[in-house]
Amino acid sequence: MEPPICALCHRDQRDHENLEFDLVRFRNFESIDHPGHPDGLLWFCQDHLDGARRLDSRTSGEALRLMRADEQRPRWLRVLRRAFGR
Ligand SMILES: [Zn+2]
Repeated sequence: MEPPICALCHRDQRDHENLEFDLVRFRNFESIDHPGHPDGLLWFCQDHLDGARRLDSRTSGEALRLMRADEQRPRWLRVLRRAFGR
């Protein structure tokens, strides 16, 4: 299992002890019966968890691509989209 490092902003919990991190399972998640980190299971920091959970019906690759594209947009547009639930 990988240590908690946000898949989007790459902040590491060891450097940010007051940030919450959690795992999100995506559509391509498959549990594995050997040591390691399964595909489709990613860590996110508290700032990116909600966005990741909204995309958990997609594969982890698609979700990351969408989240990165969203990060490029101006902040006011994100706020507006959130307000209108899109
Ligand atoms: Zn993050």
